[in-house]
Amino acid sequence: MIAKRIAALTPYVAGEQPAGGYIKLNTNENPYPPSPSVAEALRVFDTEKLRLYPDPDSKALTAEIAAYEGVRAENIFLGNGSDEVLAFGFCALFEKQVAFADVTYSFYPVYCDLYGFKKIILPLNPDFTVDSSAYKKTACGGIVIANPNAPVSLSMDEQEIIQLAKSVSCNVLIDEAYIDFARNTKSLASVAPQFKNLLIVKTFSKSYSLAGLRCGYAVGNAELIEGLNRVKNCFNSYTLGALCQTAALAAVRDRAYFNQTVQKILSTRQHTADALQKAGHTVITSDANFLFVRHSSVSGAEAYARLKQQNILVRHFAAPRTAAYIRVTVGTDAEMDAFTNAFLKF
Ligand code: PMP
Repeated sequence: MIAKRIAALTPYVAGEQPAGGYIKLNTNENPYPPSPSVAEALRVFDTEKLRLYPDPDSKALTAEIAAYEGVRAENIFLGNGSDEVLAFGFCALFEKQVAFADVTYSFYPVYCDLYGFKKIILPLNPDFTVDSSAYKKTACGGIVIANPNAPVSLSMDEQEIIQLAKSVSCNVLIDEAYIDFARNTKSLASVAPQFKNLLIVKTFSKSYSLAGLRCGYAVGNAELIEGLNRVKNCFNSYTLGALCQTAALAAVRDRAYFNQTVQKILSTRQHTADALQKAGHTVITSDANFLFVRHSSVSGAEAYARLKQQNILVRHFAAPRTAAYIRVTVGTDAEMDAFTNAFLKF
């Protein structure tokens, strides 16, 4: 028998992971392989080390990420994917009620239900931008904003987030899963430690092409990071395995490969958006590695179904404000040409 409070939950449902046969544009994975230095680091990994528990503090990886972000090791918390960092962040930093957008990452309401927090749903503006004044007016137990937002792909100016964090008393968690694909918006990771209530969460799943590794991290002041460590050490002290620490360390050191693959995705994104817009379809200006697209005559559900028939997998969100759209991960040029050709023939 499942405990009643758990039986009553509606867990998150991740995008489909079919065995093969699809052009897979549905879960915002990176179409390029991880850095070759990841393969090399795993090739020379001494499996004898697997006999022992891994470093529970991931010291080498923490130091490398701290150097990259321009902060101190005490400002970094690592987790088993950013989903776990978010889950611990909600637990450690929020109280009673959490405010977030009506159209955003659908894991946020799940964490609220798990921890028994009231959900304060603040609608995005009609153009899908965030109304930050609404957050300032709401009683504050916690605020979570995906920046850039998913699935709408827009980002909020980082100065607006700083103003918001300064004007509220509760903690503000900014989920920057897609920030490396933003055109102008900057990550707040390097400045987050200067604020008492701002936590930035990032991931290796998208821009580092390591979704299968499960590695994410938070950047914030030492007190917030201590809160996350307290929660972690109430669940599981060894959230990052030794292979994960080794692979992520190699990836974060290879800045040239990172920049090259991110740039490639940005140019493919622009090329695809231009082709769809030229044909009269709506494409929200994207700051992420996906496009939020509305066909001029076919519904989102229909577009999803027709693409699937042609072995192209995208994501459709059936809620009223998103039903007209599909979310399309930016793949390789060839994958996006196949998608565009199919979409333009509807
Ligand atoms: N935040 C957002 C907004 C996402 O879309 C995702 C990917 N589903 C995540 C966090 C989680 O990514 P991961 O757990 O792979 O780091």
